[in-house]
Amino acid sequence: MTDFLKTYTFYFIFLCMVLWEWFAPLRLNLSVPYRRWFNHFVLFVANTFIRRGWKLLTGGAVISLGWQRGILSPFSTHQWVSVLLGVFAIDFVSYVLHRAFHKYRVLWRIHRIHHSDLELDVTTAFRNHPLEIIISISAGSAIALIVGIPVVALVTYGVLATSIQMFHHANIGLSPKADLLLGCLIVTPAMHCLHHSVNDSEYNSNYGIVFPWWDWITGTFLRGSWTKQKNLSFGLKQYQNSQLVGLPWIFTSPFIINQKRFQ
Ligand SMILES: [Zn+2]
Repeated sequence: MTDFLKTYTFYFIFLCMVLWEWFAPLRLNLSVPYRRWFNHFVLFVANTFIRRGWKLLTGGAVISLGWQRGILSPFSTHQWVSVLLGVFAIDFVSYVLHRAFHKYRVLWRIHRIHHSDLELDVTTAFRNHPLEIIISISAGSAIALIVGIPVVALVTYGVLATSIQMFHHANIGLSPKADLLLGCLIVTPAMHCLHHSVNDSEYNSNYGIVFPWWDWITGTFLRGSWTKQKNLSFGLKQYQNSQLVGLPWIFTSPFIINQKRFQ
């Protein structure tokens, strides 16, 4: 039942974003996207297999050891409270991990694949190196064990994060009022697109995955706007040629040591 809900939620949100982008795209100057979409499809398929396999390995440990022993165990009598706290905790860990992916050279070589996309649309959400998936699941599972996050919170966060990531990467625009209101609860496209800007000062901000609050609290928040969102240039300064950032580079980039750090 859980897999059924996860799968259909994924396809429903994906279809909504595709239709929104198709009928009311924010940026009209997209180059022919078929090569990008093919690359992202390959990554999506590869990462789906890797994610499932790695979750089977790490999830067993979380299920067998977690929940009763962690920091959240005093709240275990109120399951919805512990689920809510668990979702917040995992999102905070994801925020911290995302900052680490930008800060440390070895991690940046993996994460820069996500930032090398020269356009931004719903498929950018799938542009991640398999190593980033493995590291993220491993870190999430380790924290889940330490904190005692219930499995239902992990599953809920997985569905929430995938849905919000497709939403905030999409080439869509919200009205300023809607963006302001929704932006108090979740990361919006206007906020996240700055994180994909080619400018250092902008892409080293707005690290949030689901909730924007961690960026507010730690001072990494940069307010987006409809105008900025419409006119931004995306990608990495050093890789503005779409031919260079194809599948061979995507898969081998983390292992190419002798490259300049991009931040
Ligand atoms: Zn990033």
